[in-house]
Amino acid sequence: MSTSSSPHVLVAGGGIAGNAVALQLLRNGIRTTVVERATAPRPGGQAVDLRGPSKAAAERMDLLDAIAQYQLDERGMSYVDGDGAIYARMAMADFDGRGAVADIEITRGDLNQVLLDAVAAADAGHLDYRYGDRIERIDQDGTGVEVTFTAGPNARFDLVIGADGVHSATRALAFGPESEFATPLGGYGAFFTMPSPADIEPGWFAMRMVPGAMMGIRPDRNPATSKAILTVRAAPDPALRRDPDAQRALIRTAFADAGWHAPAVLAAMESTTDFYFDELIRVDVPALSRGRVTLIGDACSCGSPLSGMGTATALVGAYLLAAEIAATPGDLGGAQQRYQDAIMPFLATTKDIPGGSVAMMLPNTRLMTALARLNVRIMMSRPMRPLTKRIYFGHTDDFALPEC
Ligand SMILES: Cc1cc2nc3c(=O)[nH]c(=O)nc-3n(C[C@H](O)[C@H](O)[C@H](O)COP(=O)(O)OP(=O)(O)OC[C@H]3O[C@@H](n4cnc5c(N)ncnc54)[C@H](O)[C@@H]3O)c2cc1C
Repeated sequence: MSTSSSPHVLVAGGGIAGNAVALQLLRNGIRTTVVERATAPRPGGQAVDLRGPSKAAAERMDLLDAIAQYQLDERGMSYVDGDGAIYARMAMADFDGRGAVADIEITRGDLNQVLLDAVAAADAGHLDYRYGDRIERIDQDGTGVEVTFTAGPNARFDLVIGADGVHSATRALAFGPESEFATPLGGYGAFFTMPSPADIEPGWFAMRMVPGAMMGIRPDRNPATSKAILTVRAAPDPALRRDPDAQRALIRTAFADAGWHAPAVLAAMESTTDFYFDELIRVDVPALSRGRVTLIGDACSCGSPLSGMGTATALVGAYLLAAEIAATPGDLGGAQQRYQDAIMPFLATTKDIPGGSVAMMLPNTRLMTALARLNVRIMMSRPMRPLTKRIYFGHTDDFALPEC
């Protein structure tokens, strides 16, 4: 694929993957346009962790000092019953940062801000950042990509990077319909900010399991607020996708008898300003480029938020793709292929979810839930910790980020 030695790249999506790839392209002097559907940076999201390859990518992108300023005080995960009594703990220190809580935790919104600040600092006149717009049509030919936008004027690019999340419109336009690449896992997840309950243990991610659902309350940077994280087992229902009232109703029903802080969480859900809800979906894309369109982040690979690997996938993919483009700006086809070869072994390790499936993770009878709680107790016990570490995160940490 021939390209000028100073390509113009379009990034669709200004989330973690999109901003990270834009940052690295700009630092390499590559002209970059970012188009983000939302009208402003999207806040929200609970803690995301950096470990192994994602920590290495953040380090090579020179982000660790800025991330440290937003770092959460999170000491581990505790499991509570309906009265709030703790029956198991996974302390970060006991698991060497390789359990459910890593040594670097930052909220998704803060990480996005770190990236946006770095993008602003890196911009030397090569950046065009457009909020409130999206791609409507993509036409590729031998020398480039003609892109039609919903709001802005048509423009021509050498490469389009789809970083627009699990429901990627870029993927739909260039690769095919979502149904070819996305597998519903049988559940839904919601995240939002809430006032911290008075007796919540500071610094601990507390988790309550009930039949068919899980409710977590996780530290925020501001101790007065916490992040609620809710997961519900349910058959796929397309009607839920654009219906916030139905989404909230599903959650209210699932946690009606959950005890603990469920009434406070459900009350906060009604007025929170950053309610995020999505289906638990797995995304598998066997070849990451179609002509001059390449996918990164959730758009190409996702095991749902339950995998805990979305941010890692986004940062590692963004780092590798930008590095390969910068290495051969006049040979984008070669860069796309090297990116794919480098990241595929990592993507193969990132989509597992604890327990293997939503059904195993969220059993929907009282008996099976009681057994799941017993299993948690056993897995968190001192003799079982080395095994639990391997089961949880050992394989993803083993990926050595290639030097490029
Ligand atoms: C507001 C928000 C909150 C989240 N909260 C959590 C959380 O609490 N826990 C968790 O595990 N994961 C959460 N996620 C998902 C998590 O951010 C991703 O799994 C991970 O960071 C990978 O990022 P990504 O950039 O590939 O996708 P995303 O973070 O989903 O970013 C995609 C971006 O593309 C934009 N976009 C979508 N469609 C278009 C389009 N057609 N044109 C242009 N732009 C488009 C979106 O507005 C978004 O900014 C959240 C995502 C968002 C957007």
